[in-house]
Amino acid sequence: MKKVVKFGGSSLASAEQFAKVGKIIRADEQRRYVVPSAPGKRNSKDTKVTDMLYACYALVEEEKEFRVPLMKIKERYDSIINGLNLKLSLDEEFKKIAENFKQKAGVDYAASRGEYLNGIIMANYLGYEFIDAAEVIFFDEDGNFDANKTDEVLSKRLEKTKSAVVPGFYGALPDGTVKTFSRGGSDITGSIVAKAVHASVYENWTDVSGFLVADPRIIENPQTIKTITYRELRELSYMGASVLHEDAVFPVRKAGIPINIRNTNAPEDEGTWIVESTCQASAFTITGIAGKKGFVSVNIDKDMMNSEVGFGRKVLQAFEENDISFEHMPSGIDTMTVFVHQAEFEGKEQQVISSIHRLAKPDTIDLEGNLALIAVVGRGMKSTRGTAGRIFSALAHANINVKMIDQGSSELNIIIGVSNNDFENAIKAIYDIFVLTQI
Ligand code: ASP
Repeated sequence: MKKVVKFGGSSLASAEQFAKVGKIIRADEQRRYVVPSAPGKRNSKDTKVTDMLYACYALVEEEKEFRVPLMKIKERYDSIINGLNLKLSLDEEFKKIAENFKQKAGVDYAASRGEYLNGIIMANYLGYEFIDAAEVIFFDEDGNFDANKTDEVLSKRLEKTKSAVVPGFYGALPDGTVKTFSRGGSDITGSIVAKAVHASVYENWTDVSGFLVADPRIIENPQTIKTITYRELRELSYMGASVLHEDAVFPVRKAGIPINIRNTNAPEDEGTWIVESTCQASAFTITGIAGKKGFVSVNIDKDMMNSEVGFGRKVLQAFEENDISFEHMPSGIDTMTVFVHQAEFEGKEQQVISSIHRLAKPDTIDLEGNLALIAVVGRGMKSTRGTAGRIFSALAHANINVKMIDQGSSELNIIIGVSNNDFENAIKAIYDIFVLTQI
């Protein structure tokens, strides 16, 4: 059995954090493949090495002096090396990096050095082989991740390797130029490596003990989700819950490998298991609550709308013509409502309204802004009666006016629209009724 372990930036921000990581890896000999991020923040005022690298390379592009900031980055690594008492020098590596910066090697190359150098330290510290991600993770000419080529090369390479460190976040274009994933992309590398070695689990180590039922900025000390399905996760992350990069799900999901989110600072916690399917009921009927502010509802009325074939298509065409994607679209007999992002919609509001008039000839169009959408997600809702009823009575008790409700036919989620001002209180009310009253 093989496990792939990915460690986030805060888990590798200092020598002390590295030592915790070393202990975790050595505690289980199945933890054979390690994917590190770049050193993150050591405290809330600190700067991530990746951000330091972006700033440093911006100076290169402006033809400004960059060596002092580059040496500041080297100091971060040297303090880790010294703190761990390693016999390792990054002098040559930094000479090469400075040289490549001078040759304008590119912003992705610059950013990727954060993971690259941390990988070298990690491999040295563990006595594992170091594999440069540029040799095993590939993008195509258009800059899209090349899953087939990567899987072929990477699985062959790792088959021969008992234990290895593959830095996260980057790979190479067909001509060898370094390219990164989007920010937080080491999560994706971990998933790709897990697929390539057919790991029994992809452990993703971070600084929280898994996914929380609700946002800790709104709910004090929320419960941790023990098991969540990929589909539930997608719903929650779409609505703003974030622990894992969204694209990290695809490689392992296809291969049937579960992800286990763990906490480097509390390794005894079981964390959250992300799985394809489970017969385990979630502890509280609902699995999680997430939401976002800043939506507008576009309410369109027309007498006898119900019998006009193609009305909905014409309305949506008006949004499409103006390049606006819609979030939800609940409808009544003679009315249809389209929810859109306020920031995206505001500048084009009158254009969209005139397009709707031209295409669909409605009687009236009504706009309401400053709305929030809340998703209550849970596989358990399907088999439990009265979930919607409980949500609404909780909201009514909290004096919150519900502007919209939309339940997907999968019965995996219920979306509720409330005013931005009621957002936090609505989440508290829902959390209280499903979670607090159950523990
Ligand atoms: N170091 C990169 C970032 O800060 C990638 C990662 O940490 O996953 O975005």
